[in-house]
Amino acid sequence: MANFETVEVSTDLLILGGGFSGCGAATEAAYWAKKNNLKVTLVDKAALDRSGAVAMGLSAINQYVGIGDGDNTAEEYVQYVRQDLMGISREDLVYNIARHVDGTVHLFEKWGLKIWKDENGKYVHEGRWQLMINGESYKILIAEAAKNAIADAGGEIFERVFIVDPLMDGNKCVGAVGFSTRENKFYVFKAKAVIVGLGGAVHVFRPRSVGEGFGRSWYPPFNSGSSAYFTLQAGAEMTCQEVRFIPVRFKDAYGPVGAWFLLFKSRAISAQGGEYMVVRKEELNNWAPYGLAKPIPANLRNYLGMLDVDAGLGPLYMETHEAIQKIADEYKDDPKAFKKKMKELESEAWEDFLDMTISQAILWASMNVYPEQKHSEIAACEPYFIGSHSGASGAWVSGPEDLDTPYKWGYANMTTADGLFAVGDASGASSHKFSSGSHTEGRIAAKAAVKYIVEKGAEPKVDMAKVEELKAKILTPFELVEKNQNEFTDVEVNTHYIMPRQFLHRLQKIMDEYAGGVTSAFKTSKSLLERGLELMAMLKDDSDKQGARDLHELMRVWENNQRMWIAESHIRTMLFREETRWPGYYFRADTPKMDEQNWHCFANCRWNPASGEWEMMKRDVWNIPGV
Ligand SMILES: Cc1cc2nc3c(=O)[nH]c(=O)nc-3n(C[C@H](O)[C@H](O)[C@H](O)COP(=O)(O)OP(=O)(O)OC[C@H]3O[C@@H](n4cnc5c(N)ncnc54)[C@H](O)[C@@H]3O)c2cc1C
Repeated sequence: MANFETVEVSTDLLILGGGFSGCGAATEAAYWAKKNNLKVTLVDKAALDRSGAVAMGLSAINQYVGIGDGDNTAEEYVQYVRQDLMGISREDLVYNIARHVDGTVHLFEKWGLKIWKDENGKYVHEGRWQLMINGESYKILIAEAAKNAIADAGGEIFERVFIVDPLMDGNKCVGAVGFSTRENKFYVFKAKAVIVGLGGAVHVFRPRSVGEGFGRSWYPPFNSGSSAYFTLQAGAEMTCQEVRFIPVRFKDAYGPVGAWFLLFKSRAISAQGGEYMVVRKEELNNWAPYGLAKPIPANLRNYLGMLDVDAGLGPLYMETHEAIQKIADEYKDDPKAFKKKMKELESEAWEDFLDMTISQAILWASMNVYPEQKHSEIAACEPYFIGSHSGASGAWVSGPEDLDTPYKWGYANMTTADGLFAVGDASGASSHKFSSGSHTEGRIAAKAAVKYIVEKGAEPKVDMAKVEELKAKILTPFELVEKNQNEFTDVEVNTHYIMPRQFLHRLQKIMDEYAGGVTSAFKTSKSLLERGLELMAMLKDDSDKQGARDLHELMRVWENNQRMWIAESHIRTMLFREETRWPGYYFRADTPKMDEQNWHCFANCRWNPASGEWEMMKRDVWNIPGV
C-alpha cells in the first residue's frame, strides 16, 4: 500500500465508462456544460479508441427507426421490444430512446461513419431496424467525437483508471474511487452528479472456451459487471437481474449470425437436417401470446434449437452455402453475372466477420471453411449480462419527464440513488438499444444530469475517512501477497491468499452448475438456486483473501468481486421469479411454465448498504396507452 499516491479530482459531472453510452453522455454533456460553465470528467479503465463492446468494430447499427422517412414509428419499436422481452419492458424508456435514436445515427454519419446506401441513396437495411455499415473503426469515430467535445468544453479524460466503488453521502452519490492500471495511483473523483456507463458482464458463468481458449467469448472480456456492482453498492434499486442474454452464434469464435439470418435469409438446421424453427413450431403455443406473434422472441428461437440439442439432434448448423447459392441463382442464366454475384456474396460474408469478430474469420480460414460450399456449426453461448442488447439487467431508472407514467421520481435516467444516473448496459428493462440507442441514452441522461446540477447540484460532501477505508480495502490484495508469499515455494499456492484466476474458476463453477450455465443445459430450480446461494456466501467470505502481485492482478481481483455481486443478484432474482418466462435464456425446471397472472411484472431487487440485507420486490408493467 505504501507508495500509492492519492489523486483527488473535483468535477461537476463525472461520467464513468467511455463506451457507447459514456461517449454519448460526454458529447452531449460537454455541449450543456459549456453553456453553464461546468466541468465534465470522463473515466475509463481502457483507451477510449478501442474500449468496450464495440472495441473490434461492428458490421451493423442495430437500432434505426427511420421516423423521418416514414419507415417506422417509435411506438412500433416499443411493440417490438415488448414482444421480444416476453411482455416485460419499461416502455417509457424504450420509447424515449426510439424517438431520439435516428438523430444519433445521423450524427455518426456526419462524424464519418460509412453507412451503406443503395442506388437510390437510401440506407441499406440488414433487417427492419438494422443498417449495414463499414464499422471496423466505429468505436474510434465515436470516441473521437467525445474526446473533441470534452476538450472543447475544458473537461478532462482519464484513461486506464479502473473504477471500483461509489462515494456516498447518505443516499446521494458524490463521486467514485478507483486505481490506475499503469501507475501506483489511487483516484478519488468528487462530483455533483455521476453517470454510470461501465457496461455489462461476462465470465460470470463458466465459458464454453476453457483452457487454452479461455477469455474467448461473445461478450468482450473487458466488462466485468462494474455497472451493476457500482449501483448495487450505492443502494440503488435494480431490475431484470434475472434477464441474462444467451446469443446463438457461430461456434467457438462467436461470429455474428445477424447478416446470415436477416440479409442472406439463411436457415438453421439440426445435424439430421430438420429446421428447428419449422419442426418445433407447435412448442411456440406454450408461450402464447409471445410465441405466436412475430418476430419470435430471441429466447424462444434459442429454445427450439436447444430442444433439438437435448433430443440428441445436435450439432446445429447455419446453411451458409444454401443461402449464398439461392441468392446467386437469380443470375444463373448469365454465367458471368453469376460468378460476379458469388464473389460479391462471399466477400460480404467474410467482411461481416472482419468488421466485428476477426477471430471468426481466422477460425474459418484455419478450418478450411468455404461458406459458399459448406455449412458451419452454430451454438448457444454461455450467459451474459447486457441490458442494452437482448438481455435486460440493470438499474431501475426514472423515466422521461414528459410522459405520464408510474416511473418518475427524478430526472430522466436517474437511479433511486440521488444524483446517480445509469445508461447503456447499466440501465435495466430497456433492451434493444444496441450501439446507437446506448449512445442516445447517454445523451438523454447527460442532458438530465446537467439540469440536475444546475437546479440542485450542491458541492459534494465526501467523507475522507471513508475514502481511506476504501483505499485500504481496495489495495489489501497487494498486502496479502507481500506479507505471505515467501512461506511457500510456489507463489500461487498459499494458505493466506488465493489468486484471482482460482477465485474466478470457483465463481464460474457455482454459476455453471447451480444457476443454469452451459453444462447444466441452462436449467436450474429452487433447490439448485438455494444451494448456489449457500456456496456464494462461502465464496463471498473468501473474496477478501484474493492476492495480487501487480496492478493487472489487482484489476482482476476487483473484476471478480464485481462479477460476484452481479452473480448474487442474478441468483436471487431467478429464485424470486417463480415461473419460466424466458426459456432459451434459462429454464426453472420446477416452475416450467409462464405465469402471466402472477408474474407479468418486473422482479426488482436492492441491496441495503445500511443493513447488508437484500430486498426483493415486484413492480407493475405499464403499457403506453393505445400501443
Ligand atoms: C459481441 C457484440 C456484438 C454486438 N453487435 C452489435 C451490432 O451489430 N450493432 C449494434 O448496434 N450493437 C451491437 N452490440 C451492442 C453494443 O455494443 C452495446 O449495446 C453498447 O456497446 C453498450 O454500450 P455501453 O456504454 O453500455 O457499454 P460499452 O460500450 O461496452 O462500454 C463500457 C465501457 O466501460 C468501461 N469499463 C468497464 N468497466 C470499467 C471499470 N471498472 N472502470 C472504468 N471503466 C470501465 C469499458 O472499458 C468500456 O469503455 C453488440 C454487442 C456485443 C457484445
